[in-house]
Amino acid sequence: MNEPLPEIDPRLCTGCGCCVNLCPTWALELVDEKAVLSHPNACTYCTVCEDICPEDAISLPFLIVFAPAGHHGPVYQ
Ligand code: SF4
Ligand code: SF4
Repeated sequence: MNEPLPEIDPRLCTGCGCCVNLCPTWALELVDEKAVLSHPNACTYCTVCEDICPEDAISLPFLIVFAPAGHHGPVYQ
């Protein structure tokens, strides 16, 4: 399963660079004054960029975990 990745809305991004500077894994980069996730494999989904973006341009979709169908409790074997 693919990991969800931060989504950056270029219409909202002002190119302030906060997310680029604060991303602990250098996954982000400014390209033409817009933040882009240029190294998605480096992203650890830490949510720092989403938290600090002053324009709310970054959103991280939540992980959705599916339980097995018909499973209503822990399985002991
Ligand atoms: S912090 Fe937000 S506005 Fe600033 S560069 Fe990153 S995405 Fe763009
Ligand atoms: S979620 Fe964390 S690691 Fe991923 S781009 Fe944002 S600040 Fe960087």
